[in-house]
Amino acid sequence: MAVDFSEKIITDPVDINGFLVHFMDFPDSCPVCHFSISPEFILIHKKQFHLIEVLCGCPSNRCGSLFFAVYEYDSGSKSYWLSHCYPYSGKDKEFPEEIVQLSSDFVQIFNQAHHAEQEGLDRICGVGYRKALEYLIKDFATHLNPDEAEQIRKLPLQQCIQKYINQPEIKEMAERAVWLGNDETHYVRKWKDKDIKDLKNLIDLTVYFISMTLKAKKYREEMVR
Ligand SMILES: [Zn+2]
Repeated sequence: MAVDFSEKIITDPVDINGFLVHFMDFPDSCPVCHFSISPEFILIHKKQFHLIEVLCGCPSNRCGSLFFAVYEYDSGSKSYWLSHCYPYSGKDKEFPEEIVQLSSDFVQIFNQAHHAEQEGLDRICGVGYRKALEYLIKDFATHLNPDEAEQIRKLPLQQCIQKYINQPEIKEMAERAVWLGNDETHYVRKWKDKDIKDLKNLIDLTVYFISMTLKAKKYREEMVR
């Protein structure tokens, strides 16, 4: 039976400490600043019979946020297990400097999708990744062909890759990312054994090859023999 504490809310530090022995695990990072921490336990709230919330404090001086750790009672082990923490502030994915300069839209849209995924919205984040990819490819194509910016903007993504992307590695990865990206927006999946993880891998590879191409281009231009 779940520990029966008579009070709905425990605030006495001694009682809180006494209660911690029923917890099987503790939050090991702050959901707001994402640093590794050992939180301070400020208050225990018995929400339902098998569900308690623990108000925690992040000890980091720069953050110092309050957050809740939600624990569920497991009758098998007769203890409380950490389910999740909230509020969760999404963590940004970092991109190489060349990519940020090439397409800040890509970085922004990718991270919005990334946050949605971290919030558990895994059925809709794919559409965001697909949109981010379009900005990445079109901004890269425009970077290589500045005079054709207008045509590039209007062209469907697949055709844009065919017409403007000549580097085989980028072309092959980007094409496949588009195939999977389109699956995220359509009712019927064509690539049944592939998922969001594969889409993100292909975007990662596209980012990698574009980044390498831009770096190499920069040195070729800066160091002419
Ligand atoms: Zn924090």
